[in-house]
Amino acid sequence: MNKTLTLVINCGSSSLKFALMPNESGEDPVLSGLAERLGDSDASITYKSSEGKKEESLNGGDHATALEALINHIDQKGLLASVTAVGHRVVHGGEEFHKSVLIDDKVIAAIERCSPLAPLHNPPNLLGIRVAREKLPALPQVAVFDTAFHQTMEPQAYLYALPMEYYREYGVRRYGFHGTSHRFVSDETRRMLALDPKDHGIVIAHLGNGASATAVKNGESVDTTMGLTPLEGLVMGTRSGDVDPGALVYLANRANMSINDLDNMLNRKSGLLGLSELSNDCRTLEEEAAKGHPGAKIALDVFAHRLARLIGGLAMSLDRLDAVTFTGGIGENSSLLRKMTIERLKPFGIVLDDAANEKCVRGTSGVISGATGPKALVVATNEELMIARDTLAIANASR
Ligand code: ADP
Repeated sequence: MNKTLTLVINCGSSSLKFALMPNESGEDPVLSGLAERLGDSDASITYKSSEGKKEESLNGGDHATALEALINHIDQKGLLASVTAVGHRVVHGGEEFHKSVLIDDKVIAAIERCSPLAPLHNPPNLLGIRVAREKLPALPQVAVFDTAFHQTMEPQAYLYALPMEYYREYGVRRYGFHGTSHRFVSDETRRMLALDPKDHGIVIAHLGNGASATAVKNGESVDTTMGLTPLEGLVMGTRSGDVDPGALVYLANRANMSINDLDNMLNRKSGLLGLSELSNDCRTLEEEAAKGHPGAKIALDVFAHRLARLIGGLAMSLDRLDAVTFTGGIGENSSLLRKMTIERLKPFGIVLDDAANEKCVRGTSGVISGATGPKALVVATNEELMIARDTLAIANASR
């Protein structure tokens, strides 16, 4: 008898990421991969397993074609009967969802109500849910929200100082994202440091192409750097993070930029790319900065300065700072940016252990600080595992 499995699905506008996760403690997916360019003539799906990597054309297929191909592939491997539930990543749960939920028609309607808050993300997430319910009608399906972990924030942390009517009428407030990763990594940090579940304070820095940091007090998010959208806060690959809103008004008037021009500039031309005038990729910037490229150097400096500044601000929502944990592609691999950030956290008394910092790359987790002061850690995030765990628990409770 095969081990039972949970299928994790993450649907984007033209992509579908998937992972088939064992329900037992084994953490590595049995199968994972990505369908890309869905809807285009060169749509394809790539499967990764212990047998290697395999790419197939989807002949211009859409999300439904991709999911059908995936289900057939799972069936051919003799694994379909072992799949017990499907977990879906959903980006925006607004104020409707405080935790992961079993999907029914009411849940779908509520996710639809949140779509205006994330018009590029929620509709493809819903499409994935609809197609999966149609193709796998016998299986319980669970929605896991990027925003849900941050619903514990208090009004003082989530309100903007705008006229309250915009919160009441349009839901304009801070929601925060990357919640599944922040939840996983804060649990791991607590476990690794044997912190008291009811008395701890941690700041998590999730640094990938998108980047956000969260203050976690006694297991709950109390403040985070992203806001109504994932544009607020830290410097990201191509996103600006915090900017004086007055600068946008100024540019609209002075450079005659439209709302669309500003949106495009802030989301796609800014961040590490905009500052360096070279690349949004941290690895490239590190290589070029080492050779003396001034743009690459200033981009990394602004990234580290902003990160340290916002970590400092987040810590003010805690009773005590026990640890700062780095995760995401940059957090897990860039010993340079971790060093540059920790050096800027001097007022907290964190001391970097250089040798330990150099060792924590390519998925190796560990403590990278010395014996005194708050700890600094690297933890490899695993959002698929968190989605699978929630899905399994909710599916089991529903039977
Ligand atoms: P996403 O948010 O798309 O999931 P990732 O978490 O994969 O992104 O992070 C991508 C970022 O991680 C890129 O900027 C990449 O350059 C950076 N990165 C990956 N490996 C390294 C490395 N060895 N050194 C520095 N940066 C790295």
